[in-house]
Amino acid sequence: MTDRELVSMAEEAMSAAYAPYSGFKVGAALAPHNAKGEIRVFTGCNIENASYSPTICAERAAAAEAVKNGFTHFETIAVCGGKDGRIEDFCPPCGVCRQVLCEFGTDDAVLILWDGKKTYRCTFGEMLPLSFRKNKLL
Ligand SMILES: [Zn+2]
Repeated sequence: MTDRELVSMAEEAMSAAYAPYSGFKVGAALAPHNAKGEIRVFTGCNIENASYSPTICAERAAAAEAVKNGFTHFETIAVCGGKDGRIEDFCPPCGVCRQVLCEFGTDDAVLILWDGKKTYRCTFGEMLPLSFRKNKLL
């Protein structure tokens, strides 16, 4: 799967965003593998809430769906978004999502951002250096 194909899935997911308060719509497409090495794409969109704090980001929506289905080895995720669904700049994951992604992805996993014209690629290690990892607890 190419970066652009994954970005297209993120764009499609963005169209389902529920963002009546901020108008900022985000889509994510996550391509993890399971214990058998099978890769499947899970997508998510942001879902806002009238009381704000229950709002969930697109990245965590996709992550929850992947983990629920046993795909707990995150390798690549594409994220895009913008006000009223207009993609005009990169939309990097928030700090909470970075921490969640790093729970299931190694430092070598890849984040792809899309600004409507070009992609930006970095590793999870670059996305969240010095992240707090499960090996600290296990
Ligand atoms: Zn987030």
